[in-house]
Amino acid sequence: MKQSIAIDGPAGAGKSTVAKRIAQILNIPYLDTGAMYRTVAVAAKRHGIDFADEDAIARLVGMIDVRVRHEDGVQHMLLDGDDVTGELRTEEISQGASLVSRVPAVRDRMTELQREVAHETRVVMDGRDICTNVLPDTPYKFFVTASAEERANRRVKQLLESGQPADYETILHDIIRRDKQDTERAYKPLFCGEDTKKIDTTDLTIEEAVNAILSEV
Ligand code: C5P
Repeated sequence: MKQSIAIDGPAGAGKSTVAKRIAQILNIPYLDTGAMYRTVAVAAKRHGIDFADEDAIARLVGMIDVRVRHEDGVQHMLLDGDDVTGELRTEEISQGASLVSRVPAVRDRMTELQREVAHETRVVMDGRDICTNVLPDTPYKFFVTASAEERANRRVKQLLESGQPADYETILHDIIRRDKQDTERAYKPLFCGEDTKKIDTTDLTIEEAVNAILSEV
């Protein structure tokens, strides 16, 4: 196994921005594993399956084909051959991904796919269980976090900048709910392991967070 860089942390902590920068600087691919769980949520929606119906979701993941493809440095998600990348970033799918990711059959399948990628090439991978479950043997493990309020503020700013409406209280509520689901699920929850370096970005710029990681690798 190549010495990949594993980054975990809660929703909206800036993981993906930091991970993308690091991948760019090191000139290696970036794998957004959240997009894979989001793709399973899209599949559930297409099949009319309730995100919370764990048995049906477990059956579904055995039937669908989820693939990652990189085109010009951009990650695309294919669901049964269909490019669903444009459907992944909605509040409904965020919440759906957090629910379907509780199902062991889903986690095991995604873990398998993620390890296949890391087996092929050195990557920067971000998610919730990369350090603790997917790539526990890499020496480069980081937990990127920030306060829930700061994460909600950043999301509001991002939405307003892209011309979309944003309500701070609703966003904060969604973040707290997703944190709770991700940290309290029974199977492979989000946590910072003892051998993982914690980076709190509440008072850091992106460059500072990137440098904190680069100084270790
Ligand atoms: O990172 P992102 O917000 O896109 O992830 C969406 C959801 O997918 C998370 O809230 C989490 O429940 C799930 N996820 C996971 N394990 C990962 C990546 C994401 O459980 N490695």
